[in-house]
Amino acid sequence: MYRDYYSAVDWDKIIAFSKDKETPFLVVLLDEVREKYQEFRANFPNAKIYYAVKANPGVELLAVLRDLGSCFDIASTHELDRMLELGVTPERLSYGNTIKKAKHIRYAYEKGVRLYTSDCEADIRNLAREAPGSRVFFRLLMDAVTSDSDWPLSRKFGCQPRMAIELVALAAELGLEPYGISFHVGSQQREISAWDAAVAQVHALFEWLAKDRLPLQAINMGGGFPADYLVKTNPLSVYAEEINAYLKTYFGASTPEIYLEPGRGLVGEAGVLVSEVVLVSKKSKTDLKRWIYTDVGVFNGLMETIDESIKYPIYTEKSGEVGDVVLAGPTCDSLDIIYEHFQYELPLSLESGDRLYWLSTGAYTTSYSSIEFNGFPPLKTYYL
Ligand SMILES: *Cc1c(COP(=O)(O)O)cnc(C)c1O
Repeated sequence: MYRDYYSAVDWDKIIAFSKDKETPFLVVLLDEVREKYQEFRANFPNAKIYYAVKANPGVELLAVLRDLGSCFDIASTHELDRMLELGVTPERLSYGNTIKKAKHIRYAYEKGVRLYTSDCEADIRNLAREAPGSRVFFRLLMDAVTSDSDWPLSRKFGCQPRMAIELVALAAELGLEPYGISFHVGSQQREISAWDAAVAQVHALFEWLAKDRLPLQAINMGGGFPADYLVKTNPLSVYAEEINAYLKTYFGASTPEIYLEPGRGLVGEAGVLVSEVVLVSKKSKTDLKRWIYTDVGVFNGLMETIDESIKYPIYTEKSGEVGDVVLAGPTCDSLDIIYEHFQYELPLSLESGDRLYWLSTGAYTTSYSSIEFNGFPPLKTYYL
């Protein structure tokens, strides 16, 4: 089944490399990241691509994207420092986190960052004071569409359209440069029509603002592009075709500049997490369901399995008859149950020491890994 996700050549490379390494660890195929980046380029030829660093902030991976000419969406001064250390100039950075301290805005401004995203008055006032004259994207609340996604970012970010209009006016008055509208349709958004609804809203807002003589130039469509997990998705080309058509429908020939901030869609499929079965157990002698405890869990890489939101494809070299399992991680916390309600089936012959390969784990695994819960170290990563 791994062949549904990786070429034979790539898979053999992963297995050969992994063979004598102590689990758990993540292997990231940098060529896959290169290919995906080019795919985004080809499918959205007029868009500027700002990789969302939080999805996987490994320096080897960031360096690859830097060399390909990518820009970067950063969420903190720590990510800012990392990018500057890698030699990425501040014109290639966008401070996209709407939640930031005034002193961090000042720091970013001093380092040369001139592009920010905001969604509330207090932050606009901080930006005007600490980052005068900077370009600002105004983030729209997308609660109606993000509920369809597998990892929604609803409620917490963005503001209602009317508020956005007020913020644009305020920003202009305070000497900032209102630049565009941003949104995020929710991460792992498989429903392409979510972008339709979002672009329609942005268009209405553009019209309104133009009437108020507050024209904007750009749309930041955020991330949301899905990776192939257990539930397969359409290829990126299908998303692009549809989304480009929505833009054309609403904006016609006067399509604004387009910014994209892919995280998961760019790096998710490039990673394979290699783990080992620690124990196989049953709660009673006659129990039909086995508990499989592995050396990777919610706290050292699989955070997105909370509420069983993201369902990774799992591969094992064992074959034969399969049966229901509950999969759980190695820590002393009952939150550390990976899949219980969604019934995974694994071979009955599975035993301690057997390896489990978690496919499409390049995004939000290392960056979500705790630093030492129960003494387990953060997830190790190898870049090939
Ligand atoms: C997390 C995030 C992204 C990346 O989202 P994906 O769904 O992983 O592509 C992009 N933009 C912003 C502002 C984000 O917070």
